[in-house]
Amino acid sequence: MLTTGKAILDVANAHTFAVPAFNISDWAMFNGIVDISEEKDAPLLVGIHPDEVNHVGRDMINAVAQRAGRSSVPIAIHWDHGADYEQILTAIQFGFTSVMIDGSMLPFDENVALSKRVADTAHSLGLSVEAELGTIGATDGYAEGGSDSIIYTDPEDAVTFVRMTGVDSLAIAIGTYHGIYPAHLKPELKLGLLKEIKARVEVPLVLHGGSNNPDDEIAQAAKLGINKINISSDIKVAYHDKMREVLADPKLREPLAIQPPCIEAMKVVAAHKIDLFGAAGKGHLF
Ligand SMILES: [Zn+2]
Repeated sequence: MLTTGKAILDVANAHTFAVPAFNISDWAMFNGIVDISEEKDAPLLVGIHPDEVNHVGRDMINAVAQRAGRSSVPIAIHWDHGADYEQILTAIQFGFTSVMIDGSMLPFDENVALSKRVADTAHSLGLSVEAELGTIGATDGYAEGGSDSIIYTDPEDAVTFVRMTGVDSLAIAIGTYHGIYPAHLKPELKLGLLKEIKARVEVPLVLHGGSNNPDDEIAQAAKLGINKINISSDIKVAYHDKMREVLADPKLREPLAIQPPCIEAMKVVAAHKIDLFGAAGKGHLF
């Protein structure tokens, strides 16, 4: 079924697991992600970044909604990293059921004002809202976010922020970066900080930049109260690494011959994430 981010994440919060938000900008990859989510009986957020929306076009959002509507697992269509209020109106118009407004680079008061405005509008139309406090780093040109340094989320500010804005979930900065980490950068999550924030903030917590982190750290984060983890680079790397291998055969030209092994390779990575997050077998909770 097609549902909101809040409907999915509140259950994840109550039952202490994390739902994957896989970023999608390709129909074959989207189908593969829905298939593996159904096979694993795992709820799903389909994350689509504004740049990805531009790439796939509005009509694909309708098709995503149709496929989600007849799925055996709950699925939300989530606008990833909305940059301003106008983008959120576009997301609403296009049929998204969940939006993120990213005011994390703004001063605190401006982030509050923007996130509250988005929450008021989205809630009146039945969508749910994620906002971000603190900034996570970016590692490469493909990753969103303009900063290569992390400003960790302050627990007290997080409490104030959620109370003042009324957002449904909060992305926090505890040590992840967007993208694939270069060799010199050793990701390390501040799990103590996560515990502090979780003890005080009631809404579901979100982790961006979940690709390329050590498995045990990510699994720990899900056990300690992260309820949504964004995965983009890891599934795209798996898909296209396989595609490079497949395309070594110069005779291949049909997508139906080229894509299936790539989808299978991507599904292996996605299944691993679903297991790691504790999301497998959680469909019955809905
Ligand atoms: Zn992000």
